[in-house]
Amino acid sequence: GTPQQPKNCSSLLEELVAEARKASPGGQVADYIPALAQVDADCVGIAVVELDGTVHTAGDANVPFSIQSISKIFGLALAMDRMDDTLWERVRMEPSGQAFNSIVQLEWEHGIPRNPFINAGAIVVADVLTSRYSSSKTAFVQYVRQLCSNEAIHADHDVWNSEKEHGNRNAALAYLMKSFGNIDSSVPEVLDHYFFQCSIAMSCVDLARSLGFLANKGIQPGTQQRVCDARSAHRINALLSTSGMYDQSGEFAFTVGLPAKSGVGGGIIAVVPDYGVICAWSPPLNRFGNPARAVEMITQFALRLGLSVYH
Ligand code: GLU
Repeated sequence: GTPQQPKNCSSLLEELVAEARKASPGGQVADYIPALAQVDADCVGIAVVELDGTVHTAGDANVPFSIQSISKIFGLALAMDRMDDTLWERVRMEPSGQAFNSIVQLEWEHGIPRNPFINAGAIVVADVLTSRYSSSKTAFVQYVRQLCSNEAIHADHDVWNSEKEHGNRNAALAYLMKSFGNIDSSVPEVLDHYFFQCSIAMSCVDLARSLGFLANKGIQPGTQQRVCDARSAHRINALLSTSGMYDQSGEFAFTVGLPAKSGVGGGIIAVVPDYGVICAWSPPLNRFGNPARAVEMITQFALRLGLSVYH
């Protein structure tokens, strides 16, 4: 059909939320920690923040949820800011073709993770942050607060503690990488930081606003502050396109064509270069660990407006 004009954006979002509420949940809420299993499976929200600051929302777009793996974007942007290209000797830029928390590949590849958006890669990035900041958790949360101009952003301590208690697999990844010499700080310190960043709570509006710089060549649209150089923004978008949606990244590029990142809290952000950022939220996860109804809302939004970066 004819691409809709952005002025129809709000009514399109209302339509997408109504369709999502009617659709089947498409899976189960994450239950690897009790704190996430309690989330209301019926929540559905979507927000679009355009580069000129215009915000469109529908459904539960202002309800904070656990950002989980979406935090890997903030971590990477911060680490790229603090470190030169030798970062790419410690973590590669290839899709993994394995589950997000896979351990076998890491052994085959001598402790060098495939990309920064699988757990092992994000743990290396967390190591960069813990070794370069005296208080990496404070630096991280302040960075996020500043990006979305919301001083109320904080980590959910129930989720944080729960992650630590149930984090054996992430600990295994970290110790394996440490044995290969790819972790500098102490493993408990690195994991503490990683679980902290996963447990930050933000709404769709917060997330869409905070990542505007990725749609704007590194400059944060609201404040005109330079968050990263244009090359870094390009690189983060490229990695999101190839590795941001777990082992469904290829299919997402094939059908949607936007750099995107999901998290097991049910959120997905998608970057539309030179237009803005979309964030959708619905907790039940499909078999790839992606939030089914949020994937569908973003897919429909992108298709109906013709937003693919590959056109
Ligand atoms: N805290 C989760 C973990 O490390 C994050 C997973 C995710 O959102 O992909 O297992």
